[in-house]
Amino acid sequence: MLKTIKQWLNAAADVAMPRLCPVCGQALDSDERWLCRKCLASLPRTRYEEVPFNTMEQHFAGKVPIERATAYFFYEKGSPYASILHDIKYHSTPRMGQWLTTRAVGDMAASHFFDNIDAVTAVPLHRSKLAQRGYNQSEYLARGIADALHIPYIEALKAIRPHATQTRKGAMERWQNIQGNYILHEKNASQLAGKHILLVDDVITTGSTLTVCATLLKSIPNTRISLFTLAAARLE
Ligand SMILES: [Zn+2]
Repeated sequence: MLKTIKQWLNAAADVAMPRLCPVCGQALDSDERWLCRKCLASLPRTRYEEVPFNTMEQHFAGKVPIERATAYFFYEKGSPYASILHDIKYHSTPRMGQWLTTRAVGDMAASHFFDNIDAVTAVPLHRSKLAQRGYNQSEYLARGIADALHIPYIEALKAIRPHATQTRKGAMERWQNIQGNYILHEKNASQLAGKHILLVDDVITTGSTLTVCATLLKSIPNTRISLFTLAAARLE
């Protein structure tokens, strides 16, 4: 009975102020949480986790030793699915990201990608950005995975410099520029010795940030690192 009333109230609220699917812009049904069924069903999945030594893993070869890497879906600038990334970052809907990564764990179960992960951490945000935005979207993504797997989320890294715009820089310059942006959160990092850590970010474009952060995590004794991003640009 209670559930029926709640459903009725949700449906009434949707009529009064319809919630919209960020991908197609259509009004959501009361039982559709963040995306409509149709857009969720046609999410452009990378399915990297199903491929041994996939494109994303090859991207890190020779840079930092990682176990596995995957991204949930592809995005391209101007693709309707890119609005998911924009919304979780700027439109105060990080919970949509958390919901999506919880779904990702279910969707990828058959691949065993998440089977041996001990703890989840996220690419941190500098406090100036945190003050501006109010939250770190990557932390929400990481927490979605940690919750689904019933393993701890641990803040293992700190951003000590705000991230500068990288677009005009070459790969080497970009790497040197990002390298000093992050440090280990010493107290928390010590809990991660000997663990298989999943490092989470919202999107992979050049992979420089993930390389720098994974390298720091590798400096904790006997760690293994896997990478997960919500989205991936098509990697060359
Ligand atoms: Zn839709």
